[in-house]
Amino acid sequence: MSPDWTQARCGDDPDLFFLAGYSRAYLAQVVDAKAACAACPLLEPCRTEVMAREAGAGEKSRFGICGGMTPKERYRADTTRTAATREPAVP
Ligand code: SF4
Repeated sequence: MSPDWTQARCGDDPDLFFLAGYSRAYLAQVVDAKAACAACPLLEPCRTEVMAREAGAGEKSRFGICGGMTPKERYRADTTRTAATREPAVP
């Protein structure tokens, strides 16, 4: 049975999950978005789906908070990366 995505917490405020820059406001936004994900009934299927969808992608090809993880966290957790898809770390 597929998840009922209408129950996703991010549906209430999608802009919260797409971040701009790396300012102090960005860090506060990450905290708020991760808190919403932590309370979301779809956290596990969402994380599974995004990790499968982004498998092998570079860090710069991942956007927004998804499955309770930042793009960098998903990139680092991606076990399918190869030497060809590795990117230099973003400061
Ligand atoms: S876990 Fe996924 S579906 Fe739930 S709020 Fe976060 S991004 Fe949205």
